[in-house]
Amino acid sequence: MTNVPFFAQVNSHFDRAAKFTDHRPGLLRQIKTCNQVFHTTFPLQRDDGSIESVEGWRAVHSSHKLPSKGGIRFTTKASEDEVMALAALMTYKCAIVNVPFGGAKGAVKIDPHNYSEPELERLTRRYTFELTQKRFIGPGIDVPAPDYGTGPREMAWIADTYEAVAHELDAIGCVTGKPLAQGGIRGRVEATGRGVFFGIREACDCAEDMKKLGLSPGLEGKTVVVQGLGNVGYHAAKFLQDGGAVIVGVTEYEGAVYNPKGFDIEALVAHREDSGSLLGFAGAQDLAAREEGLELECDILVPAALENQITVENAPRVKAKIIGEAANGPVTSDADKVLNERGVMIIPDAFLNAGGVTVSYFEWVKNLSHLRFGRLGRRFDMRMRTTLLQTVEEHVGVEFPPGTIEDVAQGAQEEDLVNSGLEDTIIEAFNEVRDIKMRHDGQMDMRTAAFVCAIEKVALTYRERGIFP
Ligand code: NAD
Repeated sequence: MTNVPFFAQVNSHFDRAAKFTDHRPGLLRQIKTCNQVFHTTFPLQRDDGSIESVEGWRAVHSSHKLPSKGGIRFTTKASEDEVMALAALMTYKCAIVNVPFGGAKGAVKIDPHNYSEPELERLTRRYTFELTQKRFIGPGIDVPAPDYGTGPREMAWIADTYEAVAHELDAIGCVTGKPLAQGGIRGRVEATGRGVFFGIREACDCAEDMKKLGLSPGLEGKTVVVQGLGNVGYHAAKFLQDGGAVIVGVTEYEGAVYNPKGFDIEALVAHREDSGSLLGFAGAQDLAAREEGLELECDILVPAALENQITVENAPRVKAKIIGEAANGPVTSDADKVLNERGVMIIPDAFLNAGGVTVSYFEWVKNLSHLRFGRLGRRFDMRMRTTLLQTVEEHVGVEFPPGTIEDVAQGAQEEDLVNSGLEDTIIEAFNEVRDIKMRHDGQMDMRTAAFVCAIEKVALTYRERGIFP
């Protein structure tokens, strides 16, 4: 663990990047500061009739664009410092991937495993009510999403509570990551992991960068260790495996498993579901301590659990040449220096895990327009393409193999459009950040380049609005 508070760590990345910009100190201070923090303690009646006081927060780091956006996490490690740090990361992330939101984050200080479903529902609804009363939620104000320890179920409770209280036409857009039937969007659940895959694949495709790391270009055959097999970690592992990478290690709460030859991630998940643990999986050997997983021999390490996992203490022992930050803040700021000095490529959280907020943005647009993507044009596109291909057959005299016309003519479904928009967003962000790095002779690390990118965009918004002209 590190003793430097998380928000101070994020700010140290900001300060390092700010030196590469020429903005006035006052503007930089305004961008860096956390605009609002709401803290609440509310009562929860447990199933046994006892009353517990539960602490919750919502931090809005920046309202330079509205609404602000960021997940809600349920964890006993929650604190004001943590929500402020994570809200700041959201501001920078949204700017980098050109999603028009400010940055926010919320947390409730509980271990969800210790509560029944009805208790979690009461707690989530009460927290939402507190946010609603203090105007810390709303489709044009602040829009939460899932994060560590929360998922579509909690988002559905939030939407339902807000709708009941607010009576607004667009109320359903008050939260994203909802189940499909409650105004969610196809592809949201796996979006963050899928985005992590797109970002890592793009990095591996860059022959020049791979050569510097002593690796061949391309994802094919690269060995991967994943920390945390939750939403983000599981999906990242699955898409990386489907993309040709070899999963050689996974670490979870209960321990770690390793096989240098690789194993099938779905088989490991099935084993964990059956037995309740990663350990004892026939396809790999058990490791004594879960922390050892971070130090395994591999090309790519994907920390996808929580912040402060790679510290100055274990950074010298990390063997991976690439770290893909799927979690928020998994590498401490002092470990960051150690790894950079060792030539490890860190693909920063500031855009690598932006897939979730990108698809949340699509969900929010869908909610406000009250229209599913692809609904208007799909049949029309299908008919146009079918006519075109039939005309080619008729007039050019070719005959396409059976099924070809149907395959080619198929119009895009909502999920196709979402995944296409996500892929484009992450690839564009990667290349924008890499261009900034290369403009500084490649001497700048990716995280600093990502923060430069974010600072420039937030500063532009302030300037164009006439604040700090
Ligand atoms: P999750 O709760 O679904 O999964 C986290 C997993 O990590 C759990 O299975 C947990 O048991 C495991 N874990 C916790 N501590 C561990 C440790 N020390 N070693 C190994 N495993 C450990 O959460 P998630 O939604 O997948 O979020 C994970 C990270 O990704 C968080 O940092 C979150 O802020 C970030 N993130 C999530 C999203 C999203 O859309 N869910 C978006 C962006 C960023």
